[in-house]
Amino acid sequence: MAEEVNIPYKKENIIKCLCPTCPVQEHSTCAKEKMMNYQDLLQSEDDPKPEEYPGMYCTNGKAVCKDLDTEKNCICNECMVYKEFELENAQPNFLFCGNGKLKNRIFSFLISCFLYF
Ligand code: SF4
Ligand code: SF4
Repeated sequence: MAEEVNIPYKKENIIKCLCPTCPVQEHSTCAKEKMMNYQDLLQSEDDPKPEEYPGMYCTNGKAVCKDLDTEKNCICNECMVYKEFELENAQPNFLFCGNGKLKNRIFSFLISCFLYF
């Protein structure tokens, strides 16, 4: 059994996203170029378009930038969005930039039951 999870793509979540500081994007020229407009995007009245912001892959899906190093460690599990939406139980639950957006979340109590028995 699983439940659908929809994380709002909004500035209040975008500012919590750790993707721009992730080692996977550290040497990405494409991500760095997108981040040059970050302050402008935040000051705009509208939420940024997904292709304008190199992050929130958990809800936007795979990265548009193709120069990411997905062999490095994903830091999603340190993110407040990840904790708030309990993404440790999601499928997939890390490296959303490479694996694609989360599809659903397995009920945590079912996991607890499984681990208990
Ligand atoms: S989804 Fe994970 S691996 Fe990809 S950029 Fe964000 S924190 Fe890094
Ligand atoms: S869980 Fe990962 S992709 Fe989603 S907002 Fe946090 S750091 Fe970004």
